[in-house]
Amino acid sequence: MSESLFARAEAVIPGGVNSPVRAFRGVGGTPRFMAKGEGPRVTDEDGRTYIDYVMSWGPLILGHSHPDVVAAAIDATRTGSSYGAPTRGEVELAEEIVARIPGVDQVRCVSSGTEATMSAIRVGRGFTGRDKIIKFAGHYHGHGDALLVEAGSGVATLGLPNSPGVTAGATGDTIVVPWNDRDAVTAAFEAHGDDIALIICEPVAANMGVVPAADGYHRFLRDITRDHGALLLVDEVMTGFRLARGGATELLGLEPDLIAFGKVVGGGFPLAAFGGRREIMSQLAPVGPVYQAGTLSGNPVAVAAGLTQLRLLDADAYARLDALADRLIDGLAEAFSDAGVPACIQRVGNLFGLFFTDTAVTDYEGARAADHDRYGRFFHGMLAEGHYLPPSGYEAMFVSTAHTEDDIDATVAAAARVAATLA
Ligand code: PLP
Repeated sequence: MSESLFARAEAVIPGGVNSPVRAFRGVGGTPRFMAKGEGPRVTDEDGRTYIDYVMSWGPLILGHSHPDVVAAAIDATRTGSSYGAPTRGEVELAEEIVARIPGVDQVRCVSSGTEATMSAIRVGRGFTGRDKIIKFAGHYHGHGDALLVEAGSGVATLGLPNSPGVTAGATGDTIVVPWNDRDAVTAAFEAHGDDIALIICEPVAANMGVVPAADGYHRFLRDITRDHGALLLVDEVMTGFRLARGGATELLGLEPDLIAFGKVVGGGFPLAAFGGRREIMSQLAPVGPVYQAGTLSGNPVAVAAGLTQLRLLDADAYARLDALADRLIDGLAEAFSDAGVPACIQRVGNLFGLFFTDTAVTDYEGARAADHDRYGRFFHGMLAEGHYLPPSGYEAMFVSTAHTEDDIDATVAAAARVAATLA
């Protein structure tokens, strides 16, 4: 059924998918068309069930179809799915985010992570009156023009350097530097210091596999931006409300000026947000001159789902996610070691990724140098065993509170069998 649906899809949707990584181009084969998700499992159109470690690429931190999240969305839909006028839920969601995230005074809702980073950059440029931004090679911030330079995720999976259709003008103010490299950032400030509006980074790079910041690197980024009157924009679309109640900002003790949120904040619905200090956010229309808007921004159904999910994410939930990640990472590491397959599992909290290499990966070059063919074979071996991993070696894996210890143990046992075929 996936085969025939894919054939139909390829006729009417470019590549048969609405987002490139879904197409299995990084691993080969036919993407599975999903029909159902329940807790930690997905079932495809052929009726095969898998333990899921993609979890919609992060949003479903409580698992598929969590009953409270579903009920909230249904209730909101029945009441009225969209007004184009403010609603109580938006206020409550903004209050919840402001209460959780240190340094965020105000937030505005948008509908995707792409919009969140794009809009945060605009307000950062408006606030500083400067044009240039620094981004890191291999960090993905959505598909906004200015950010589609050496981006990770699908761009990395497909081996694209940059994207046709993005004009030189659109990226002319984007300075790309290697992640974890202090000298390159310092050199960029020496060359362009007065023109640099902000640095944007993923707090834990997680779109080129998972590549944590080196010790002290976040402090360095904070200090150098402050010294030059530039802002620090932390893209927590992946990490926000996942790594801790207050995201990477809380877990790693960051002090960003602006933060982009997405994924978990929307409970599996199209919702994202960006926020920061009041003096910066008050540059936005209608208070200030920086224009930003959206017909479905703060959509009541998405807000109800997201707010319900956030309220269920207490300290116990994070402890559980971390314990599940520990169990899976330890089990996978042992499976590869027993099979004599060089593998490097990199993590921060419950966010982790797998590289087939014997050296730690610290930047995009290292991520590209890992054995992605072997990842493809591992992926297909696991798929055949009923475990749905990200269909690309440049992506993170996600656990949810709905996964059980038995699920993890079943995945580890399958990984041991598949690892034995990889050497
Ligand atoms: N920023 C990060 C860190 C992401 O991981 C993603 C998506 O994976 C985005 C931004 C873009 O979010 P969206 O796909 O909702 O536009």
